[in-house]
Amino acid sequence: MICGRTETEFMDEVKKFHGFVAPGLLIGGYMVDIARKKIGENVEADAIVESAHCLPDAVQILTPCTLGNGWLKVLNLGKFAITLFDRHTFKGCRVYLDLKKLEAHPNIYNWYMGLVSKKDLPKEILIGAILEAKKDILSSKDIIVRQHGERNKKSKVIVCGKCNEAYFASQGDLCLACQGKDYYEEITV
Ligand SMILES: [Zn+2]
Repeated sequence: MICGRTETEFMDEVKKFHGFVAPGLLIGGYMVDIARKKIGENVEADAIVESAHCLPDAVQILTPCTLGNGWLKVLNLGKFAITLFDRHTFKGCRVYLDLKKLEAHPNIYNWYMGLVSKKDLPKEILIGAILEAKKDILSSKDIIVRQHGERNKKSKVIVCGKCNEAYFASQGDLCLACQGKDYYEEITV
């Protein structure tokens, strides 16, 4: 079971939300389940994930925390780990993929470490291996969040003197785009 759902029910939700059943998201489901139980189901929890891949969606499917409401933060540390923590006390639980335990599950190990091609390890086999391993490949630790635990407050909004779009005053005297830090270029015909 994953947060009160069967694995099949969870995978159906994953398909709808994420577009397809990703192995990492299935593991992420087990991670959220462990963290949820450890900190207590009734605790008002915020979430931090350490990878932008798969893990944010596991949290968004299984908890009220989303990127949009700011209760979920993505720290791009490139690690397969999830923390859920009490938003008032900052006490929480970090669940991570345990490489030592993964040694007993070579298919999952080889997939995660990029040692095998998709052709040599079809997704059905990998998913099957994850469904068999369940939480055996994960470990968790009680932690206290020291950074990034505060919810971001919206900063003051002002109007950019150059482009006339409104932006958060915290960015500076002009909006970031007008400071030359834009991510796009206008197409002029
Ligand atoms: Zn501007």
